[in-house]
Amino acid sequence: MNASLIACPDCDLLQHKPLVPPGGVARCRRCGAGLYRRVPGGVDRTLALALAGLVLFAVANLFPLLSVRLGEDLVSATLAAAVKALWDQGELALAGLVAGTCIVAPLLVLLSILYVFAPLHFGRLPPAVAPVVRSLHAFQAWNMMEVFLLGILVTVVKLAKMATILPGPGVVAFFMLIFLLAAAATAMDTEAVWARIGIR
Ligand SMILES: [Zn+2]
Repeated sequence: MNASLIACPDCDLLQHKPLVPPGGVARCRRCGAGLYRRVPGGVDRTLALALAGLVLFAVANLFPLLSVRLGEDLVSATLAAAVKALWDQGELALAGLVAGTCIVAPLLVLLSILYVFAPLHFGRLPPAVAPVVRSLHAFQAWNMMEVFLLGILVTVVKLAKMATILPGPGVVAFFMLIFLLAAAATAMDTEAVWARIGIR
């Protein structure tokens, strides 16, 4: 795949990527649809968001998502414990799906962002940057933390009458991480990467 070519999302016209200054928008030559946006300061913002994301990821995984009080008993569950519980109940596919979409994919997104954008911040390109950027988009597609969060909310509503549900620090970090990853995806200026590859 030629990194200097881009297909219009609206009319499919294959064209050379126009040079766009940071803050500018590249438009299709034929129909004027937006092709991509150069985010001003996008490299630093993406890097900062990914670093903050890594801290939230640690909190979301190390601290309990929820505590359930049923009579005298108080049970706290981390994300890993939820995956293990599913696994132990024989829900192997579901356990794999939750682990993949809520632990592995977000972690790979964060690590790939750091791998690409930390050297870029210092004006360098890491080795194999093109495949990593392409994989990053794939990892983003598999990051479905919001689906899991929706599942938690449904469970909380269903259990609310039977038990006392206490939100843990993990669920707060989990919730914030969803927004942070979305912000990082918006700030991510992959065109800055492609432009630099073109220069080299
Ligand atoms: Zn077009």
